[in-house]
Amino acid sequence: MKTDYEVNIGLEIHAELKTKTKIFCSCKNSFGDKPNTNVCPVCIGLPGTLPVTNKQAVILAIRAGLALGSRISPHLLFDRKHYFYPDLPKAYQISQDKLPLCIGGGIKLDSGKFVRFNHIHLEEDAGKLIHDTFTDQTFIDYNRGGVPLIECVTEVDLSSAEETVEFLTKLRQTLIFADVANCKMEQAGMRCDVNLSVKKHGSSELGTKVEMKNLNSFKSVYGAIKYEMNRQIEELEKGGKIVQETRKWDETKEITTSMRKKEESKDYRYMPEPDFISINISPKDIDKIRNTLPMMPEERFKKYTEEYGLPEQDANLLISEKDYSDYFDNCLKLFFEPKTVANWIMTDLLKLLKSANFNTLEDIISEEYLCIILKLLADKKITRPVAKELFEKTIQTKNNPLEIAKTEKMLSTISSEQICKIVDQIIAEKPELKSEYKVQPDKITNFIVGGVMKQTQGKADATFIKDYVSKIMN
Ligand code: ZN
Ligand code: MN
Repeated sequence: MKTDYEVNIGLEIHAELKTKTKIFCSCKNSFGDKPNTNVCPVCIGLPGTLPVTNKQAVILAIRAGLALGSRISPHLLFDRKHYFYPDLPKAYQISQDKLPLCIGGGIKLDSGKFVRFNHIHLEEDAGKLIHDTFTDQTFIDYNRGGVPLIECVTEVDLSSAEETVEFLTKLRQTLIFADVANCKMEQAGMRCDVNLSVKKHGSSELGTKVEMKNLNSFKSVYGAIKYEMNRQIEELEKGGKIVQETRKWDETKEITTSMRKKEESKDYRYMPEPDFISINISPKDIDKIRNTLPMMPEERFKKYTEEYGLPEQDANLLISEKDYSDYFDNCLKLFFEPKTVANWIMTDLLKLLKSANFNTLEDIISEEYLCIILKLLADKKITRPVAKELFEKTIQTKNNPLEIAKTEKMLSTISSEQICKIVDQIIAEKPELKSEYKVQPDKITNFIVGGVMKQTQGKADATFIKDYVSKIMN
């Protein structure tokens, strides 16, 4: 990229809210069902029907605003946005124009830069067109029509593909942690429109913007921005002009192509939604919602590193998914040894999550059962290898690990005192061990550990023996 240019990027991100039902009717909000099974007269726009607002959708949108630092508007109002397309049977979308639900807010990037939201508004999703290239037919699935969405509109604050991907990653993480949206990009649960223009450094006016719609992976966003900024700079360098238009990102060719020229902005003929009476949102309502917000990732990171003393790397891994972080927090309520719990999650559990058919850590083993094993280990009732074996058996059988350990006779009946006694005895029988230890401490320690294991059928805790040996030898 030529260094005398700068890139200016603004985003519009749509995220589907995780409500049980749609925003204006009681149809199920669920992905992947048989086409046109979750529909009713309201969401397919039959005349004479009236929308009834789903309170849960409003609450989730407010949660999103609060988690992202927005101000919440004192009234809820909807507007009609008119456009004509087969995915929208009413020929208008119920959206917000004059007074969006959340105003302002933003996300801080690692560099310290603050990327501002202009606003976040609430609206309904449209149906989905399915193009069959083989038969050259187009089908429509209205299951998605009426699913609640938030649209997050940023200011033109971003200036590179890297920054944009970081911003989107943080936005997605926040929406997931706030329990607002699942943001499954592969299911179009989160989609991103990118507005991009380039200008010479120092120029006070923004360049002509080009819009790229419905990018549904971070990879596409990154690729489209990289390609488009280079294309625009090259065009300007050749003495050409940028046309204001909508361009399409071609995933396989990795280029953008012109979709439609946009000479003037589209006329959506916005008007207040007459079928909806304004609802007041009191500061008390907002506080009530704020109080139910779970801890956000940055706060958790701070807690893990500063309060629990975890290394930053561990804390970062734990907050990378809400599931990991929630699981970790739940375990600490039962067994407060942060580093031990973190280690088991990061090694044993994550390895399984990646290799097998588990959706969540809890699917593998419940927090309760994992903590039973960790407690047995901490109390030296089992050794580390036995703990691993018990862990595997618990996953296979889904039975309580304490019961498994009892029936399979895995619990050690050997007390610490008994182990000390055996060590003392070994040394008493071979007094030369003491002087040999001074020369080869590791070798002698291992010899003693081996001796104890032999006498206890491997049920003693090796770490404990080693600690005891080093205590009496030094
Ligand atoms: Zn419906
Ligand atoms: Mn929208």
